[in-house]
Amino acid sequence: MAKVNIMRLLPSVDELFKHEKLAALNESIPAVRIKNSVRDALTALREEYLARKDDPDFIPYDEDEIVEKVLSRILAEHETSLKKVINGTGIVIHTNLGRSLLPEVVRDALLDAAFSYNNLEYDLKSGQRGSRYTHLESTIKELTGAEDVLVVNNNAAAVMLALNTMVQGREAIISRGELVEIGGSFRVPEVLKMSGGFLREVGTTNKTHLYDYEEAICEETGILLKVHTSNYHIIGFTETVDGRDLAELGRKHDIPVVEDLGSGLFVDLSKYGLEYEPTVRDTLAKGVDVVTFSGDKLLGGPQAGIIVGRKKYIQAMKKNQLTRALRVDKMTISALEATLRLYLDEDRAMAAIPTMRMLTLTLEELAHRAEVLYRNLLRKVKTCHLDVVDCQSQVGGGSLPQERLPSRAVTIVPMNMSLNDFERRMRLGKYHVIGKIHKERYELDVRTFLEGDMEKIVDAVKLALKDNGRASAE
Ligand SMILES: *Cc1c(COP(=O)(O)O)cnc(C)c1O
Repeated sequence: MAKVNIMRLLPSVDELFKHEKLAALNESIPAVRIKNSVRDALTALREEYLARKDDPDFIPYDEDEIVEKVLSRILAEHETSLKKVINGTGIVIHTNLGRSLLPEVVRDALLDAAFSYNNLEYDLKSGQRGSRYTHLESTIKELTGAEDVLVVNNNAAAVMLALNTMVQGREAIISRGELVEIGGSFRVPEVLKMSGGFLREVGTTNKTHLYDYEEAICEETGILLKVHTSNYHIIGFTETVDGRDLAELGRKHDIPVVEDLGSGLFVDLSKYGLEYEPTVRDTLAKGVDVVTFSGDKLLGGPQAGIIVGRKKYIQAMKKNQLTRALRVDKMTISALEATLRLYLDEDRAMAAIPTMRMLTLTLEELAHRAEVLYRNLLRKVKTCHLDVVDCQSQVGGGSLPQERLPSRAVTIVPMNMSLNDFERRMRLGKYHVIGKIHKERYELDVRTFLEGDMEKIVDAVKLALKDNGRASAE
């Protein structure tokens, strides 16, 4: 290249800003964002030019190339942070991918809640101030047989509120086998400490007997606490105390029993071939005084923490100042109400709630899906090896940790790039497909696909396999 000042070849911010291709973005992207991105892009180009100014092979970009670079930078910088992804992991309640998907009927409820005024805290009958907690009461009572109900932000908040209200300065007796940590940040002993209570551990990691609880009961005892060991399972020589026996012991000593169920279920899933897990109704029927559970795990609704049980304890929680800080908003109430109403008819719930539907898909349906995707890929993409294999999906969200659901996966092995490159391209590409590398293959479990995902996946694979020359050089 001749000895000209190559920096001179770069356009100015203003020149670029006025370029017709960029001006067209003005409709959808605020001008300050465009200007900032143009400035950033030019800085990057200037640095690149400077670094390569003595490189005889360096050819400065032409105007079109520069505009393309700036354009893609603007679009990338203006993307929303929260993005749709395609879940090819087969983990139905994937906490990192947003847990449960809401049923379609929730759409209208959410739109109404968002764009109209409503009676959130207004009693239409009396024309007086009302309570936001009344909206979900009757449906939850009907579904669980509970005396009273309170819904808060999530189950962690529900447990904290229950403990803060019922233990306060006294002890919660809990089995050593149930001192669990869930999702890295919810640790039962810490939550208890934060709620102003003290821990009284009884039994051992693998075995706790009723007499262990009984011997620990004293003046200082506030509650007997039972926590679902959601995300792990102790196998072998084990013994735990059932809620029924604990409830009886509690009644004998006039001490309330609280159970954190974790997931919370309204349907007995063993009818559908899954492991038996007690429903919320079954747990209350055992005599447990207060039960807490999540809204967005197996229940398949929005993020929420539901507390059900005896009126006197729930009333005390409603009066607790903490409740104001943990309260749910109108969007949650409307989404939860619409989801819960589906459970009044079990068949409808199983068909309409995505979490329930995905968990109970038959192997036949899954095999068909896998076959369709496999054939479409076979027709449309060349440079990879494809196959359909048996796999096992997980429930996720710390629910039914033992359960492995037989499923089918389509596997892809690219010919011209590494599996890691391919996985990264699928993840970062237009559709953000999340799959996993397993046994030296890229695997997509079809269980967690949504309507329309398969077409997008074919497109994503085509795009990911393109220009692999550059990918391997990156
Ligand atoms: C998941 C879980 C929680 C936390 O519930 P969030 O709704 O995520 O706050 C608490 N306890 C148990 C046993 C759980 O499984």
